[in-house]
Amino acid sequence: MLERILGRKEFRYKCSQCGKTHVGSPSFAYRYPTYYFDVPEDEREKRVRATEDLCQIDPSSDEDGDATIYCIRVILEIPIKGAKEPFTWGVWVTQSKESFEKYVDTFDEDQSSQSSFGWLPVTMPFYKSSEAGAPFEHLECDVHWGSPGQRPKACLWESEHPLAVDQRSGISWQKASEMANLISGCQ
Ligand SMILES: [Zn+2]
Repeated sequence: MLERILGRKEFRYKCSQCGKTHVGSPSFAYRYPTYYFDVPEDEREKRVRATEDLCQIDPSSDEDGDATIYCIRVILEIPIKGAKEPFTWGVWVTQSKESFEKYVDTFDEDQSSQSSFGWLPVTMPFYKSSEAGAPFEHLECDVHWGSPGQRPKACLWESEHPLAVDQRSGISWQKASEMANLISGCQ
């Protein structure tokens, strides 16, 4: 086991956009949950309360009052086989009203003994199997909260969905390079 850990290398890949070799495991994050973009722009100010970690979206006036959406930003780690650090996605998961309120109330405290249930809408390229315009797939996950300043980590429930398989089994160096190359905003 120790040998396996000691043998892990810093991830690096050759960038197809700038031609340089980028060092360090890739990390990509979404600034808002996907539901944010379902709210018409001129209603966002009124219906959305968002920070970098929290997002509450109130229903439109013609929707049911219980349709409020509560999301928190979490880290989804996908191990890269043979690499020191995982490929990480900064994604949003939905929370129950109770979990969300507890998360907000204890945000500045050590939350590392806490966890909650969440739904992850699969918005990432490579993992989306829903067609354009179709609703996103949602995967069940356990969300393990962190200590102050540390985002929670999402652990997907065991399933045959490619994202759950990759989180469980890890991805190859090659696949991580291809993914990084295709989503990188590098110029
Ligand atoms: Zn580059």
